[in-house]
Amino acid sequence: MRHSYCPDELLKHTERIRECRVQCLTNSEETDRLERLVTAARNLGADAAKIIDSKKVVVDKRVRLKCAIPVCASYGRHLMCPPNLMSVEEFNDALALYEMALILQVEADYNSADKTAAGLSKEICEDLEEATNTKDWELKLHRIVNDVEALAFKEGFYLAAGLIGGDCALCPECVTPGSGEPCRRPFEARPSMEAMGIDVFRTCQEVGLPIFLSSDKKVRWTGIVLLC
Ligand code: SF4
Repeated sequence: MRHSYCPDELLKHTERIRECRVQCLTNSEETDRLERLVTAARNLGADAAKIIDSKKVVVDKRVRLKCAIPVCASYGRHLMCPPNLMSVEEFNDALALYEMALILQVEADYNSADKTAAGLSKEICEDLEEATNTKDWELKLHRIVNDVEALAFKEGFYLAAGLIGGDCALCPECVTPGSGEPCRRPFEARPSMEAMGIDVFRTCQEVGLPIFLSSDKKVRWTGIVLLC
């Protein structure tokens, strides 16, 4: 006898299987591997690290829009920034195939309070970056994300993929736009979460991690390693 399922039922069924799988994975020997990754992230210098269901990662096309409006100084000039990346739709399709992720944060030792009532400008961003050593914190996060991704691969999560925060700062200047010059550090460079369309603010809220906008709290840089 043949059974037929309506698409909605099939989707619900698939979702249930997926939820059970995530539950089983986190309840079995996988727990040890995941805990080792969280411990490694903390030992490498992360101030927060936790395993989350990848469904908690919020993707929103408006985040990609904000790369262009107002246009970021790196837009179209940086190999790891839009429009030099896959589309938000392509990323979202790939994200749906991941089951878990390790989200991590690095807390800088300066606050993010507005220093002026004026709107953002290139000069204000550059002054703030210089005064607060932004690149140092971005690079610290980048190093941890790359190391955790490599460890995840060795733990058997062979499709592990890391995303950083902010534009890739491995070189003082990225390659000249339109030059055709390849990335100088291709195995180390990573795009940011926001460049892929991830709403970092809402994702952090979803998983109970602190994140502050223009507050007098210390800045937290957020990165993620997708796992499956
Ligand atoms: S590693 Fe250097 S060349 Fe490659 S994306 Fe990062 S800044 Fe650009």
